[in-house]
Formats: sequence, C-alpha cells, structure tokens
Amino acid sequence: MTPGELLHSIRPQWLERVSGHLARADRVRETFRQQLTVFYEALIRAVETGNPALLTPVLESWGEARTQTELENPHSSLPLVVNQILVATFQLLRDELADSDALSLMAVILPVYSYALEQTSVLETQLHVRHVSQELDHARSLLERLEKSKSDFIAVAAHELKTPLTLIEGYASMMSESVPEDPLDPMEDMYLKGIHSGTRRLREIVDDMIDVSMIDNNLLSLNFQPLWLNRLLETVQREVAATVAERKLNLKFRAFAGVDEMTYGDGERLLQAFRNLITNAIKYTPDGGSVTIDGRMLPGFIEITFSDTGIGIDPEFHAAIFEKFGRLGDVLTHSSGKTKFKGGGPGLGLPITKGIIEAHGGTIWVESPGYDEKRYPGSTFHILLPLRKGPPDDKTDKLFNPTVDAKKVARF
Ligand code: ADP
Repeated sequence: MTPGELLHSIRPQWLERVSGHLARADRVRETFRQQLTVFYEALIRAVETGNPALLTPVLESWGEARTQTELENPHSSLPLVVNQILVATFQLLRDELADSDALSLMAVILPVYSYALEQTSVLETQLHVRHVSQELDHARSLLERLEKSKSDFIAVAAHELKTPLTLIEGYASMMSESVPEDPLDPMEDMYLKGIHSGTRRLREIVDDMIDVSMIDNNLLSLNFQPLWLNRLLETVQREVAATVAERKLNLKFRAFAGVDEMTYGDGERLLQAFRNLITNAIKYTPDGGSVTIDGRMLPGFIEITFSDTGIGIDPEFHAAIFEKFGRLGDVLTHSSGKTKFKGGGPGLGLPITKGIIEAHGGTIWVESPGYDEKRYPGSTFHILLPLRKGPPDDKTDKLFNPTVDAKKVARF
C-alpha cells in the first residue's frame, strides 16, 4: 500500500486516538474531532503530493480560532498541540501497522510534521505579537483618556476657582480700604494680611493651572520682543534675594559669553520659566548650599544652566518631573511652600517651564547623579534656547521695525 492508502486505512483509529489524547471533555472532543478530520484530510493530501504546505490553511484556521485565554496559557500552544498529535500518531502506527509499513509511513510523515511545527511556531509568535500590541493599544488609549481627564480637570477646576477667588480678592481689598489706617486694630491688620497672602498664593496656583491647560491644548501664545537674557536673569536674582539671604544660600550668576546678546523672545514667559527653575533650586537645596546660574554660547543657540547643591533627582524620574503633577515624594508628607526647604508645590512648575521653552523652539532637560538627602549630589537644569537675531514673524517685525513699512510707503 502507498503511504496515502495506509493513512486512509487507519483514519477511524487515528481520529479516536488523537482526539482522545488531546481533549478530555466530550463536548470539546466532538468539535475537536471535526477539526481533526479536516487536518487528517490535509495530512493525507500533503503525504500523497509531497507538499506539506497543504496543511497551512488548517493550521492558520486553528491559529485564528485561538482565544485570548488560550494565548495566555503556555500549555495550549499550537506547536505543543502539533507535537502531541505527532506522538499519538506514531504510537498508533506502531500499534496498528506492520513494522515495515509503520516505518515507511513515519519516514514520509515526519517532514510534513516538522513543517507543521515550524509553521505553528511562526504563527504562534505572530499571534502573540498581535495580542501584545492589542493590549498595548488598549493601555495607550486608557492612558490617553486618563491624560485627557487630567487636563480637563485642571481646566475646569481652574475656571471654577477663579470666580470665587476674584470675589475674595475684591472683598478683601474693599475691607483693607474701608478700615481706617490709623489706629488699625493689630489683629485686624494681621487677618487682612493673612487673607491677602493666602489669595496671592491661590492666584499663583490657579494661574499655573490655566497655563498648564493652555500648554496642553497648544494655546500658549508668545509675545516676541527684543530682550537680553542677562537682564531677565538679574531680575529673578533680585526677586529671590531676600529668600537667598534668609536661607543663607550662595547664589552666583556667571555672566557667560553671549548672555548679554539681544535675542527675540517672550520676556514675561521666559522670566516665569527662569523663576520656576531658580525657586526649585532654592526649594530643594538645604540652608547654606549653593545655586549657580551659568551657560555658554553655541552656534545659533544659547545654553543656560541652573545648578544647585541640593537633594538631587533619581535618574528614573528625570523625564517624569516634566509631566503634569510630576512632583516626587509622598503626598501624605507633602508640605507646601514657595521657598522653604523641600516645600513642594502641586507639580506644575516644570511642565509650564518646559511648555514655555519648547514654545520658543528650545529644549530643557535635567542632569543629576541621583537623589540623596545626606550627601546632596545636586541637580543641573539645562535650557537650550535658539538665538533669534530677527523677529520671528511679520507681526513682531512690524511692531519692532516700523521703519520697514514706512520705507515701503515712501517708495510709492
Ligand atoms: P513643584 O511644584 O512640586 O516644585 P515642579 O514641577 O516645579 O513642581 O517640580 C516637580 C518635581 O521635581 C518636584 O516636586 C521635585 O521633586 C523635583 N525637582 C524639581 N526641581 C528640583 C531640584 N532643583 N532639585 C531636586 N528636585 C527637584
């Protein structure tokens, strides 16, 4: 008998043996029997024609039918099933056929099975890759939704807080104006000052929330004007002078080459970015430490660095701190404060700073060997800003070079 005829002759026994070997429950066995019948037909054709590829459609349909749970179970992988079919088949050949027939049939079946094993391994890998990428897509869309709700929450909360805050500010000012200056009850004076400083801090937080939501929605618009970075840096230095003295810090500003060059940028926004970095350097550096502003000129760019001798930042979080609410540390031990040592804020300062710098076409990053509250390894924030010698757009050009238009008019 030919190998094909031999296979035809043992079809019922093969089905019984293999389905019994693979599936225990009767219901499963029935559906499995149908699939095995299709597989066996393809196997006979593959053996008769010598073309193992005839098994591919069956194996592919098995792959497609695999559920997520099966994919996650290492004991139900397709190559494992093919291997079990092979073992059951060889046992059957040995039991049912004469030795010579069994041996010759094994010899022709073996290459077909090895093809099936190879195919199912490839298929299994593809299925796993598809499964994992589906899981990743799902996780990504969850993250996007989370990010969107974070962003929506900030925008809504900021607008909801703005109205009552404006009311408190207004009434507090009216109260200050209505109480006679002299003699002012010292307690009343203290209460009013308390309200004013509380509302000022709240206003700063609300403004930060509005800025973050503008940056998130690409709505941050810059008012470009000619500026000198050294003047901005000197301004922030003056702003923090009292705190620096109080905290006994050593604040140094090295007037590096290029810092006094004129460049176009949004002075208010850049001041805000520098202020955030310097207040952070102050906040995370212990009393008596140093904060240094330095930099260098690069072709077309200017690099400014803010270094401190503070607690440092674990490299694992160097990217995360630029994300909204990327503040580190335990929320339960959070102590707020603009300048006191480790007086953390809501975690909006760096995302705003990054948004401002990137809106200028620049980049910001941090360098720090790690976080250590005993050895104080320090951190250095780098800002790379493009040097703009001319106005970035027509509007700014008209504003700062009116002579250009005047010259055009004069030509007519
Ligand atoms: P926060 O309002 O908490 O200061 P930021 O966005 O300005 O928020 O900073 C995010 C986090 O980055 C901070 O909570 C702090 O953990 C870390 N960080 C920022 N600057 C420094 C610094 N100079 N040294 C150490 N840690 C810093």
